[in-house]
Amino acid sequence: MLIDIGVNLSHKRFAHDTREVLKYARENGVHKLILTGTSVTESNRVIDLLDKFSSEFPRMLYGTVGIHPHSASGFSNASLTDLRSLSAHSSVVAIGETGLDFYRNLAPKEIQIECFEAHLNLASELGLPLFMHEREASSLQIDILKNHRNNFSKGVIHCFTGDRRTLYQYLDMDLYIGITGWICDQRRGIPLQNLIADIPLDRLMIETDSPYLLPRNMAFIPKDGRNEPSFLPWVASGIAACREESKNEIIKQTGKTAINFFSLK
Ligand SMILES: [Zn+2]
Repeated sequence: MLIDIGVNLSHKRFAHDTREVLKYARENGVHKLILTGTSVTESNRVIDLLDKFSSEFPRMLYGTVGIHPHSASGFSNASLTDLRSLSAHSSVVAIGETGLDFYRNLAPKEIQIECFEAHLNLASELGLPLFMHEREASSLQIDILKNHRNNFSKGVIHCFTGDRRTLYQYLDMDLYIGITGWICDQRRGIPLQNLIADIPLDRLMIETDSPYLLPRNMAFIPKDGRNEPSFLPWVASGIAACREESKNEIIKQTGKTAINFFSLK
């Protein structure tokens, strides 16, 4: 089953045609979508989308609530309280997006760390899995995760683009790996293409991270460059091109993994 574990559906680029985007996804066999919450405001919007579209698209829409490291500057105890109450929604299946990003450094490091640790504690308290981001911050992220690893149940590093050493450290901590259309890129995707066969198939999940990261292997590149959940099969193709399993096997197993990981109904 095709399950897109990372969709930024509250992004303004989807505002004018949300319903069509969901219809195209369903028509293209993408059965379940996990909408990513990236700030308190966006997490609220995710909840609104779940409430608005869940009856029209039954058992298809789920969400996460969290604060992306880019948005960590405004983090406070009040935001933590907001996330805790949003997480009570019946379709919220994970805490995140959370983690460290020292590539763009849009928020000061100290606040990113404080915000990340608060998410780890919240996920542990609620018994929910973690949906994590990490860029150019693997050694500190791994140190922090090690300190919390006995407390939280499950975690996925979404949009993994790191190196082999980092990959094995995440796998050694029993974490899962999310792969986006990054792998389909014939230039910057090459290191990941060389690494993807090292990931046990039962630790792998797939995602579009739409509207970002359009898969560059698509037969038809949309003029506006917007990625959407209906393009998820291209991510599976990109992975299959670098592994022994067929595209269908990859779709089947990653779907099973996502259902178990997020306890999807
Ligand atoms: Zn991310």
